[in-house]
Amino acid sequence: MSDHHQDTDVIHAGEGAVSSASPITTPIYATSTFTFPSAAALEAFQRGASDRYIYSRYANPTVQAVEAKIAAAEGGDAALVVSSGMAATSTAFFGLVQPGDEVVCSSAIYGGTLQVLTTFLARFGVRTRFASIDELGRPEELIGPQTKVVWCESPTNPTLRCVDIAAIAAACRAQGVISIVDNTFASPMNQQPLALGADLVMHSATKYLNGHSDVTAGALVGSTALIDRVRPARKLLGGVLEPASAYALARGIKTLAVRMARHNSNAMAVAQWLESHGHVSRVFYPGLTSHPDHAVAVRQMRGFGGMVCCEVKSGYAGAVSFFDRVKLIQRAASLGGVESLCSLPVLTSQYGLSDAQLADAGVTRGMVRLSIGLEDPADLIADLSQALS
Ligand SMILES: *Cc1c(COP(=O)(O)O)cnc(C)c1O
Repeated sequence: MSDHHQDTDVIHAGEGAVSSASPITTPIYATSTFTFPSAAALEAFQRGASDRYIYSRYANPTVQAVEAKIAAAEGGDAALVVSSGMAATSTAFFGLVQPGDEVVCSSAIYGGTLQVLTTFLARFGVRTRFASIDELGRPEELIGPQTKVVWCESPTNPTLRCVDIAAIAAACRAQGVISIVDNTFASPMNQQPLALGADLVMHSATKYLNGHSDVTAGALVGSTALIDRVRPARKLLGGVLEPASAYALARGIKTLAVRMARHNSNAMAVAQWLESHGHVSRVFYPGLTSHPDHAVAVRQMRGFGGMVCCEVKSGYAGAVSFFDRVKLIQRAASLGGVESLCSLPVLTSQYGLSDAQLADAGVTRGMVRLSIGLEDPADLIADLSQALS
């Protein structure tokens, strides 16, 4: 008989908030649901007259704490955090577009974004018009009567092309079109699209925001009104972030400013060193005066980020040998973590493209992409030197 009581005790003992504890960090609210003291409290919640929580797919305090951090970093009123960058992209589109709408999207875009548009949204009657970097330089010519959203990325993968965000945002605003910028590569420390006039910022928080290659997450930031338009899509598509991952992401974001300062200076040192190397034909880094979009980058960025791309003189064979020989820098996709990573665009983001498609993307078989981490810059250059020798 007492066994039954014991079962109950095991379930209930020690549960609930400890009101006398005031931690310096936001606790991980590892709970799927929240309790109510009475029907009146639940009724007040449903009326919107209560700051209680009901269910973690709708809202969770640990997730809200990281949303406040990301909103502050981007200078936005509100943010929505989701389970991946792709969840952010799909949630934004499903929250904002309807059949008959047109999306104008940069053709220099993350592959997953392109596929969501061409496979899913096309199936639901949303058309996409892809625009080159040059065409995005004349944004007013791209916007038609059906255009609902203009979506772009700056800097782009892997050649770090930059588009004039203020000009695109102004053209959109003049026509009542929503401008959305994937700010993953720059990070909010280097570029704030909202301050440049964009309506919504999207992040793969998997990259610089978290910064430690141990969380998959995404975010959208904008005005309270626009975020409130997208919020039901997160609730119903269900791409929510787990509270434990939200905690880890918030911890990563606390060091974002110091990490980005080191990413910026390390990448600049690497880019300048590569540019003077005899086996390297071209270096793509927005901070170099040789970069085609250096002037745009100087106008809209405070730092040029941690991504560097270079082309070796000996083509694919040279790129493969460089890739296979790096020791400190590790061979892996993704970016934005403390460890430096190396990838070959033709074996990752541009895999399987024809020569004509590669030419359109400005990508060659001799290109190597580097996500420069936080190591000592002399160690990075020593590794690059032995790999290129
Ligand atoms: C990685 C990435 C994404 C997708 O984010 P996930 O977190 O992998 O879903 C979108 N845009 C850019 C620029 C990225 O680098």
